[in-house]
Amino acid sequence: MPSMPSDLEISRATLRKPLSDVAGDMGIEPRLFEPYGHSAGKISLEAIEELATRPRAKYVVVTSITPTPLGEGKTTTTVGLGQAFGHIGKRGVIAVRQASMGPTFGIKGGAAGGGYSQVVPMEAVNLHLTGDIHAVTSAHNLLAAMVDNHLHKGNALDIDPLAVSWRRVLDVNDRDLRQIVTGLGGRQDGLPRQTGFDITAASEVMAALALAPSLSDLRARLGRIVVAYDRRGEPVTAEDLRGAGAMCVQLRDALKPNLLQTTEQTPALVHCGPFGNIAHGNSSVVADLIGIHGGDYLVTEAGFGADMGAERFFNIKCRASGLTPDAAVVVATVRGLKAHTGRYRVVAGRSLPEEMLAENPEDVRDGATNLRKQIANVRAHGVTPVVAVNAFPGDYDSEKQAIVDVAAEEGARAAITTHATEGGKGAAELAEAVAEACAEPAGFSFLYPDDASLTEKIETIARRMYGADGIELSATARRQLDDCERHGFGHLPVCVAKTHLSLSADPSRKGAPVGWTLPVREVRLSAGAGFVYPICGDMRTMPGLSSQPAAENIDIDEAGQVVGLS
Ligand code: ADP
Ligand code: MG
Repeated sequence: MPSMPSDLEISRATLRKPLSDVAGDMGIEPRLFEPYGHSAGKISLEAIEELATRPRAKYVVVTSITPTPLGEGKTTTTVGLGQAFGHIGKRGVIAVRQASMGPTFGIKGGAAGGGYSQVVPMEAVNLHLTGDIHAVTSAHNLLAAMVDNHLHKGNALDIDPLAVSWRRVLDVNDRDLRQIVTGLGGRQDGLPRQTGFDITAASEVMAALALAPSLSDLRARLGRIVVAYDRRGEPVTAEDLRGAGAMCVQLRDALKPNLLQTTEQTPALVHCGPFGNIAHGNSSVVADLIGIHGGDYLVTEAGFGADMGAERFFNIKCRASGLTPDAAVVVATVRGLKAHTGRYRVVAGRSLPEEMLAENPEDVRDGATNLRKQIANVRAHGVTPVVAVNAFPGDYDSEKQAIVDVAAEEGARAAITTHATEGGKGAAELAEAVAEACAEPAGFSFLYPDDASLTEKIETIARRMYGADGIELSATARRQLDDCERHGFGHLPVCVAKTHLSLSADPSRKGAPVGWTLPVREVRLSAGAGFVYPICGDMRTMPGLSSQPAAENIDIDEAGQVVGLS
């Protein structure tokens, strides 16, 4: 088999259209397109209103089985499907998250899709892009400085220095900054306090940016951010500190979605990258509000498996945007379902275990308990699922067919796709199946109403999405839930922070575990972003580098080109 060029080689060889023409394909006039160099541009938020009279596209979310650490190909399928609509005479637009540079130089590559289904150019997508992440870093850290300055300058709000929850952020995987002491020195150097850094993607500012449908709404969300509690135990907000206005000024361009294109010149909105661990992990609401009038189908990705990314897409993102999905693609892979037998160990950064490569459709069927559950999770929201069998080189026909058979047993449409190696035409059959699913009468509904209690919301997600018997709240969690309700945050949706590597809270349990209880250790508030997040297990908000960080392989060649980006 001839070997495929690398993602970077494919990206570099791609013929790109002028981006103003790509914008034009979406019906966006030149005056609403703001070029940022040759690789990317921004779309003015006026486009939301100007496009509103155009027909509404069908709205498709791409989700997956519970993934292995290698990823099952959601981004690649999002790009491939968007391109595939062009092969069946329809216009696709895609909307995906922006990669964070922490992981780009850490371990996981390929945040822009892969092979012949990528957003290009790869260097732009994975590095800096138009500076949105830097803007989030600056706005977040300005607020942190204002908190410490307030403590230093007399503390008129009576903030309890031991109850400051607002940390600092940086877009670098740097474990040494997880816990730090600030304010060392003397009387003029601030109040010594223990705090720490999170990765910028984990900033509540990033989550707020991704969920805000307008600049005025963003301004209001920033004002609602709770940074600390005062000595009476009452929340202190960014508004109380008079910091939200300046933060919003720093973010005014970052709120405009970035426009790029795919390997087949399909319009690609690349915007925001909230962390999936403790935030909702979906690309921005504004990108979707524009993209929904930019073609016949808007395809967007929701991070992690359907129990997490899609559940948050349905119950958090759709609540904020007011948009409702017409279909959901559930990406499944042969390797992923084999891993769900629990018989193999798949480790990030390493190749698959040898035994996993042998032809074994029975394994695929055994592991498909996870796929069946994720199909049901989509249906629980009244949305029609379509299974995409994302074929990897080396998968056997019998194994791919086993996935199609399982989908048929569940009454779901399915298609085997080869978009990574063949581009959009490799997903044309999937596009046809998605078009059929979108033509069915829509019956979308949220999983829980706004006025259910926070505890009821967590319990509903645990039972109905994860298959748990119930939840177990620690004493701390119980007290924090009471505080959230008492302070008027009980109406917010919840974003359960648990491992993405299992339907359960234990990453080692594969398939569709039954007979377990979801342990809720503590509960935190993202009042600005607009959700409450119960923490179930160890959630890292600042990754570290591995023993062989990706950064070691990345360099500049003699021609000034980036090499080693994966
Ligand atoms: P996810 O979005 O689900 O995390 P990605 O689409 O980013 O997954 O894919 C994870 C990695 O696997 C990427 O490096 C991508 O290039 C690669 N990949 C995805 N699908 C295929 C495929 N069908 N064949 C080969 N490589 C693939
Ligand atoms: Mg992805």
